[in-house]
Amino acid sequence: MQSITYTESRLAEMMHSAGVRPTLQRIAIMSCVYHSTKHPSADDIYTELSPEYPSLSLTTVYNSLRALTAAGLLRTVDIDSGNMHYDMALQTPHSHFMCRGCGRIFDMEMPSDVCGGATPGFVIDCVDVYYKGICPQCANIQNN
Ligand SMILES: [Zn+2]
Ligand SMILES: [Zn+2]
Repeated sequence: MQSITYTESRLAEMMHSAGVRPTLQRIAIMSCVYHSTKHPSADDIYTELSPEYPSLSLTTVYNSLRALTAAGLLRTVDIDSGNMHYDMALQTPHSHFMCRGCGRIFDMEMPSDVCGGATPGFVIDCVDVYYKGICPQCANIQNN
């Protein structure tokens, strides 16, 4: 759902106001998530950034993602068991679909009454909806 370009200074500003120290590597990591529609994992980000940042370690990527998530700048997408993916935090609530064929994660609209079945007395402050199945592209390949 990303369409805006976030400059490095904009990202640094967002980190500042969220209380995260904006290091160059953190800015690059956050930029990776904010400018991707793929919901990258730590491994994806590491693979993408390591040519440009040879001193970057996978541990730094993991730690930065954790700090940025705790600061409310990123959200986790826990659709791929054991392999956490990341998304921008502040955007319209949406659900995610993971294709069993190609493994890609797509944004989907959130069902309108997703909290409708909640038991009275429980206060919901976080809703995640995950779908799994076959994307149109993979369905086409199967049918041919
Ligand atoms: Zn697919
Ligand atoms: Zn998303």
